[in-house]
Amino acid sequence: MSLAPLASLTALADLNGLRAVVTGGASGIGLATARLLAARGATVAVLDLHPGDVEEPLLGFTADVSDDVSVRAAVDAAVDALGGLDILVNNAGIGAAGTVEDNDDAQWHRVLDVNVLGIVRTTRAALPHLRASGRAAIVNTCSIAATAGLPQRALYSASKGAVLSLTLAMAADHIGEGIRVNCVNPGTVDTPWVGRLLGAAADPAAERAALQARQPHGRLVSADEVAAAVAYLASPLAGSTTGTALAVDGGMAGLRLRPGAR
Ligand code: NAD
Repeated sequence: MSLAPLASLTALADLNGLRAVVTGGASGIGLATARLLAARGATVAVLDLHPGDVEEPLLGFTADVSDDVSVRAAVDAAVDALGGLDILVNNAGIGAAGTVEDNDDAQWHRVLDVNVLGIVRTTRAALPHLRASGRAAIVNTCSIAATAGLPQRALYSASKGAVLSLTLAMAADHIGEGIRVNCVNPGTVDTPWVGRLLGAAADPAAERAALQARQPHGRLVSADEVAAAVAYLASPLAGSTTGTALAVDGGMAGLRLRPGAR
């Protein structure tokens, strides 16, 4: 299966005139998303712990989604710079490994604080602006971990399960205000995050091969493929789509292949 031809997607101008904020937009899925939204016509602000490397035309703002004061200040500054807000991509997130026995209370609080409450804080700050848009969309980065039992991911999966449920509840609460809310559920994506995981493995090549084999299409998902799904859900082209979780996982959630059948 060939990669999505990004050039053909960037020829779309469906986001012309729209203003977007992407959290965690300085790396991986968030950076690919910010670049694609901009290529399709949006003006884009990136909120990140380390926005320093974000290149033009993206606007970078320092924010820690686990700190309400920081989030409110960054959202206000971004909305000022953009002149309003139509699209919020809640993408910032952190990982955790282990079974339910392996993470202490501080780790549970930290991951839930960033992955779940980070969405709450950013959305809370953004909603007054999104209500004024008329074409508003929120896209949350969830995970295959919300819908499938993965080994050694108890805490991370619990956080993404909460993101999935929060997405549905938010979609119900805000549909009457003209705000659509959806999420993407990526499989294992080839980002710096996964690079760090592989780098820490005893045998990185074997670990990469195992992660590739777990996905029915036989490779890792690319950040650009997740970005394309986010951009679709964020676009007015998806104006009748709300309360959905779009899998971008090479078939991992939905397919049951016979062993060796691919
Ligand atoms: P990444 O580490 O490459 O990028 C994450 C970005 O988020 C970084 O720029 C980081 O600085 C920022 N960030 C982290 N904590 C933050 C905080 N408290 N406040 C603001 N910014 C913060 O990771 P990625 O692989 O691109 O992951 C992005 C999202 O995708 C996460 O929500 C992750 O759970 C999700 N996801 C990743 C994969 C994967 O395989 N890579 C799969 C499914 C879901």
